[in-house]
Amino acid sequence: MSSTESPRATVSSDERLRIGVMHGDGIGPEIVPAAVAVADAAAARSGFGIDWRELPFGAAAIDTHGTPIPDQTLDALSGMDLWVLGPHDSAAYPGGFAADLTPGGVIRKQFDLFANLRPSRALPGVAATAPGIDILIARENSEGLYADRNMAVGSGEFMPTPDIALSVGVITRAATERIAHEACRAARGRSRHVTIVHKANVLRLTTGLFRDVCREVAAEYPDVRVDDFHVDAMAAMLVRRPADFDVVVTENLFGDILSDLAGELAGSLGIAASVNCSSRQAMAQAAHGAAPDIAGQGIANPVAIIGSTAMLLRWYAGRTGRSDVLEAAGRIDAAVAATLGARVSTRDLGGTATTAVFTEKVLANIADS
Ligand code: ATP
Repeated sequence: MSSTESPRATVSSDERLRIGVMHGDGIGPEIVPAAVAVADAAAARSGFGIDWRELPFGAAAIDTHGTPIPDQTLDALSGMDLWVLGPHDSAAYPGGFAADLTPGGVIRKQFDLFANLRPSRALPGVAATAPGIDILIARENSEGLYADRNMAVGSGEFMPTPDIALSVGVITRAATERIAHEACRAARGRSRHVTIVHKANVLRLTTGLFRDVCREVAAEYPDVRVDDFHVDAMAAMLVRRPADFDVVVTENLFGDILSDLAGELAGSLGIAASVNCSSRQAMAQAAHGAAPDIAGQGIANPVAIIGSTAMLLRWYAGRTGRSDVLEAAGRIDAAVAATLGARVSTRDLGGTATTAVFTEKVLANIADS
């Protein structure tokens, strides 16, 4: 045990965290319990407890409740600050459910989780294309070119004839302001550099508004350095000189694409963590999907969902000032880094560990922390 060990406090009920948990589809039931076990262990070592509330979600909820996202799940989420969401394979849902807004999209929209924060950082023991990368993408999550969430009623995509397809892109001052503030605040805890990504030379009005509003907001943070790039140039820059970037703020679609690029530059999408948040609630969700091709084999990599859960705790600590919760998040990240650094990894990273073996090693490292 290290000299920094926290005393084993008796946990009183007001110190306990309440976290909703939805296992999801595919590899979800394999990796989400790993994240729960790891968060429990880190919380216990930092002197507090977590009450987990399992909620019906995904294909399993279609079987039990007739819908992938039952009202009782949404009701329960509205009363909680924190949730962990497993991946969903909504394209494989039966009946009309596959054509609906994805269940993750329903949650993001209903609770206005406007910020999708996606860090990409090379981890020890993981071969990275860009070992120097350490960026946070602040992706606007509620509008942009995402047709499934940019309209109050109906879809932002439509076909006047079978041979013509149209898509509406939405950028608003209000949504841009809040993601820009999120990015600038995040930069203050990092290297105080924000890069605005847009395509204002072509999408002049929409992404031009995004760029201009981000600049206005950034002017309120004189200690934060600001620059901007067209999205195509940014894709090239991330490959050529990844170490030059810190926080990247961008609209929904650009953020989705750039964060997959950044995740791969850092080693693998299988390690890419993320949270979706409003100013009141946050949801941990790995950047990867349900990986149905390997589901049920016990070989899925739990690093992304474990890292997302650590981000969730860090977000909560930032909001509440809870140093014990911040410490637990640090324990999780350190234990994962130590495990990977000891060359224990799952098959997608070139290792031989099963999900269970990898998780046991992370738990052992938390016990030693
Ligand atoms: P979505 O559109 O929902 O993001 P997708 O079909 O684009 O899903 P994934 O489900 O993420 O993609 O799978 C892409 C590939 O990455 C698959 O070969 C899958 O097995 C692999 N993969 C994804 N996540 C993991 C993981 N956690 N561990 C190991 N392999 C993974």
